[in-house]
Amino acid sequence: RSAHVVVVGGGFGGATAAKYLRLWSNGQVRVTLIERNAQFVSCPMSNLVIGGMETMAQITHDYAGLRDHHGVRVVQDTVTAIDPATRELRLASGERLHYDRLLLSPGIDFMPERIEGLAGHEDEIPHAWKAGPQTTLLQRQLAAMPDGGVFAIHIPKAPFRCPPGPYERASLVADYCRRHKPRAKVLVLDANADIQSKKGLFLAAWGDRYRGLIEYRPNNQLLGVDARSRTAKLEFDDIKADVLNVIPPQRAGKVVELIGSRLVNDRWVSVNWLSTEVSDVPNVHVIGDATLSAPRMPKSGTMANQQAKVAAAAILHLLADLPPNASPVVMNTCYSYVGGDSAMHVASVHRFDTAEHTFLPVEGAGGLSAVASPAEATAAQAWAHNIWADMLR
Ligand code: FAD
Repeated sequence: RSAHVVVVGGGFGGATAAKYLRLWSNGQVRVTLIERNAQFVSCPMSNLVIGGMETMAQITHDYAGLRDHHGVRVVQDTVTAIDPATRELRLASGERLHYDRLLLSPGIDFMPERIEGLAGHEDEIPHAWKAGPQTTLLQRQLAAMPDGGVFAIHIPKAPFRCPPGPYERASLVADYCRRHKPRAKVLVLDANADIQSKKGLFLAAWGDRYRGLIEYRPNNQLLGVDARSRTAKLEFDDIKADVLNVIPPQRAGKVVELIGSRLVNDRWVSVNWLSTEVSDVPNVHVIGDATLSAPRMPKSGTMANQQAKVAAAAILHLLADLPPNASPVVMNTCYSYVGGDSAMHVASVHRFDTAEHTFLPVEGAGGLSAVASPAEATAAQAWAHNIWADMLR
């Protein structure tokens, strides 16, 4: 009987792992991918859709490549129960699956209950922090906003998915406003004390391109919202917006609760980064945004894609009764647009440190753009098309 690996979540982490488990085992390991959505919609590049520079079709991809080229069994369903003792998994359809190894890459779920009045109001106050119908909704709200209107974005306390993502969004909304609603205002309400990534580059771009259009306010913790009047209730004042985009606090996708681990805290899952295993539940691995990140490791699609390769290699070694690689190295590259025609990047390298038993940044490796440029917008497009191909084709 050939070994069977079940992967939950067909996003950056899960789709990549499913493909590489098949490739690196020469098709010897059976792989089933459970994903609740029929298609993959990319969060990277989704801010361009909100800004009206790209379409949903350009960021939506199917799973045919994994099925037809790589022999992954792709099942559109939701996991409802996991029994690590019998290594069995149950789906909403009633199907039961037995696994030798289980890999979870479920991404994030939101904690709207932490902001009074927010839960159940994501149609009036979209987050658009999982690409899909919410992206379209926010784009339509922006298009319908009157000239002279206020588009307010609230950013939760770190850690959250994609540290530069909210500031990229503010830039692209401002780019849209500059062209279509020049009297509008983009208000960035940040619960953090500072811009979380590429600070100097964002501030330079905002000063050059969007002077008077973007206003940045740090230390603005959101306490509650009124969905009907689109009012943000902050610690020191209330702000009424025409479009209110609240990115709620986040936690690991709820499916992680089903493994019954003490290493799942109220937000993230601690993993053994050498193998991506959850140490107190045999045969279960977790990667991607759902994990308690290693030091200075961002919750990014590149990172999930890289962790997927660490996980796939470790799973194949463990299935063959071999130890995982002793010193995995991963890297991150994250592009951000500051306008439809200009982008910049940050890059880092992370090596597994045996003494600390976690990934640590390699000092002196990686870097940051000197300035945002059109050439980097071309590179950002290439990055997206390459990583989508690496996951799905
Ligand atoms: P995901 O990609 O979210 O995949 C999780 C999958 O699991 C989902 O498809 C979900 O449907 C499925 N799932 C969850 N629970 C279940 C269940 N119980 N049963 C079945 N299926 C389930 N990263 C970059 O590297 N570069 C960027 O430029 C970038 N830009 C971004 C811009 C925005 C606006 C946002 C929001 C994010 C951006 N990111 C970027 C971050 C990136 O999207 C995430 O870090 C990445 O998606 C994490 O991968 P993942 O596999 O952990 O989760």
